[in-house]
Amino acid sequence: MDDCIFCKIVNGGIPSYTVYQDDDTLAFLDINPNTQGHTLVIPKKHAANITDMDDKDIASLFRTVRKVVSGLQAAINPEGFNLVVNHGEVAGQVIHHFHCHVIPRNTGDGIEYNFEGFTPSPEEFQELAGKVAEHIN
Ligand code: 5GP
Ligand code: ZN
Repeated sequence: MDDCIFCKIVNGGIPSYTVYQDDDTLAFLDINPNTQGHTLVIPKKHAANITDMDDKDIASLFRTVRKVVSGLQAAINPEGFNLVVNHGEVAGQVIHHFHCHVIPRNTGDGIEYNFEGFTPSPEEFQELAGKVAEHIN
């Protein structure tokens, strides 16, 4: 993808602070980190979303996510992590090349993911679960 920033990072056209790479994946520091150590893990082969990746690509990607979490734990010892994938513009996806954010978390770091949910009835839960299940194989 000629106009994809993350493809350019894969190809070396845009520099990045790489923390890990293998044949299929690349992990590098986010240029505008939410917290210290905020890292992005991407497939080297362009895919806009998880629905464009095959099982092997996804397995490779999340193997690298695990390596990065372990590396960050050893290097800077955060109390926890958020592993975040924004899928689609409405969900906050700005770069349309799949990436998993690995965001180290510590008490008092100021990041809030609080929002009010809603409470479906048991019947609504059951109907929805059935409807979704019909479409998953
Ligand atoms: P999204 O909102 O698409 O899930 O996240 C895109 C992320 O990519 C943002 O956190 C942003 O800071 C990061 N980003 C955008 N451009 C660059 C870049 O050129 N280099 C690096 N390292 N990160 C980038
Ligand atoms: Zn790309």
